[in-house]
Amino acid sequence: LFPALTEGRTDGLTDGRTDRPALRFGDRSLTYGELGAASGALAARIGGAGRVAVWATSALETAVAVVAALEAGVAAVPLNPKSGEKELGHILADSTPALVLAAPGDELPPPLRDLTRVDVDVRATGPVRHGEASVDDDPALVVYTSGTTGPPKGAVIPRRAVAATLDALADAWQWTGDDVLVHGLPLFHVHGLVLGILGPLRRGGSVRHLGRFTTEGVARELNAGATMLFGVPTMYHRIAQTLPDDPELAKALGRARLLVSGSAALPVHDHERIAAATGRRVIERYGMTETLMNTSVRADGEPRAGTVGVPLPGVELRLVEEDGSAITSYDGETVGEIQVRGPNLFTEYLNRPDATAAAFTADGWFRTGDMAVRDPDGYVRIVGRKATDLIKSGGYKIGAGEIENALLEHPGVREAAVTGEPDADLGERIVAWIVPADPESPPTVAELADHVANRLAPHKRPRVVHHLASLPRNDMGKIMKRALTRD
Ligand code: ATP
Ligand code: MG
Repeated sequence: LFPALTEGRTDGLTDGRTDRPALRFGDRSLTYGELGAASGALAARIGGAGRVAVWATSALETAVAVVAALEAGVAAVPLNPKSGEKELGHILADSTPALVLAAPGDELPPPLRDLTRVDVDVRATGPVRHGEASVDDDPALVVYTSGTTGPPKGAVIPRRAVAATLDALADAWQWTGDDVLVHGLPLFHVHGLVLGILGPLRRGGSVRHLGRFTTEGVARELNAGATMLFGVPTMYHRIAQTLPDDPELAKALGRARLLVSGSAALPVHDHERIAAATGRRVIERYGMTETLMNTSVRADGEPRAGTVGVPLPGVELRLVEEDGSAITSYDGETVGEIQVRGPNLFTEYLNRPDATAAAFTADGWFRTGDMAVRDPDGYVRIVGRKATDLIKSGGYKIGAGEIENALLEHPGVREAAVTGEPDADLGERIVAWIVPADPESPPTVAELADHVANRLAPHKRPRVVHHLASLPRNDMGKIMKRALTRD
C-alpha cells in the first residue's frame, strides 16, 4: 500500500526516495525512511496478531501504529479516545483485538487494561517487516461508523478498498507526492485516517497535523507552503465566521490548491462566504465508513455550492426510487436513494450478518440510506438521510437540507437543523431547531416561515421553531438528529 516507505521502490506512485518528509505532528516529524523503520519494526512485533486496537489520539504514534498494522497484514481497529467506557466495551467485545497499540505514557481506561499493551516507539530501530504488494481482499481496518443513526457498526474495510479509494481521489484531485496536507481532524474515522494519513502516504506526499483544528494553524501552514486542507463543515463554518476579521487567513486560503469538505453537508451559506472572501471554492466529496469515497467535485471540474460532484472513477452510482426503479434521466428534482457498487466497498459489518444482508440489494448494490437528486449534467446533490432528513408533508417529499440552507441565510440564524413530526393534516409538519444569532431577540416563527416560503416554496416553510443554545453534535461535528426532541 505504501511503496514510499521503501527506498528505491516506486510502483508508479512515488519517486523512490525515502528522505522526503512524511508526517509532522507539532514539533515531531518523520521522513519516509524513519516512518518505514519505525512502522517496520512495530510490524515485526505484531505480525500474525489477527486484529489490533489502536488508541487513536491525534498523535504521531497513531499514524505509525496504523501503518505498522497494514505493513504486518494485521487489521487495525482505531478507537476514539473520547469514547465512554460503555462504547469502548462494546467495540472491544465486538472486535476482539489481540492487543492494543498506544503512545508511551498514554493512560488507557478500564475496558482496555485487560488487553496486552504494546507501546508505539516512533524512533524504533531493529529488524523490520515490510508489506508485500498485497492490495487484496484481506481486512485492512475495522472502522466503527459514527453512530449518527444508531449504535456504531464495525465496517470491515479491505486493503483493496483503501487503495481503490485513494487512487480514485488522486485522479479526481490531481493529488501527487508534491502535495502537503493541513490536517486538523481526529484519526479514528475514515476522513482523518484513510484520507488524511494513508492518502498522502500512498502518494509519497506529506501531512502536517495541527493536533487540534484552529484557524490560526490553518493559516500558518497554508502560508508556509501547504497545498491542501481537508475539513468537516463545522471547521469551514469557523473559517467563514473568522474570515471577515482575518486577512492572513483569507490570504492563506487563497493560496491553497485544494480546500476539501466532507463527512456532512457543507452549508451553501458558508461555501458562498468563503468564496466571496478568498476567491476559492471549497470542493465537497461524499463518502461513508462502509464505502470510503463515492463522489467528489473534481479539481478540474466546476465547483458548485451544495453538490458533492460526480461518481469517482471505478464507482458505479444510481438513484433508486421507492418502488425500486432506478432514475434514468436527471432533472435535478426527482429524489432517490443513492446506491453504489465498486472496489471501494467494505466487506461486511463485523458480527452483523443481518445488517450486512440488509445493506445490499440482490444484485450487489450497497444501499447508502442517503437521498439525492442529480443535476442534468450528473452532479449529485444530497438531500439528506432517508431515516431522518426526508419529510413527507402535504403529499410532498421534502429534504431537510435545503430548508436548513435557507434558514442559515437568515441573519437571525446561526445554526439550524430541520426535522419532521407527525401532523394530523399534513402527515408530517416541518420543525426547525435553531441557534439564534442573538438569543435576546430570536427570529419569530412567522419571520422564518416567510423567509423559507419566499426562498423555496410555501409548503417548505417550518410550522414550528425551537430555540437552542447549541445543536447536539458528535466528534465529527455531525448533527445528532436523534437527540433533537421536544424536552
Ligand atoms: P451511523 O452509520 O453510525 O449512523 P454515520 O452514517 O454518520 O453514522 P459515517 O459513516 O461516518 O457514519 O458517515 C457517513 C454519512 O455521512 C453518509 O451516509 C452521509 O449521510 C454523510 N455525509 C458524508 N459526506 C457528506 C457530504 N459531503 N454531504 C452530505 N452528507 C455527507
Ligand atoms: Mg451511516
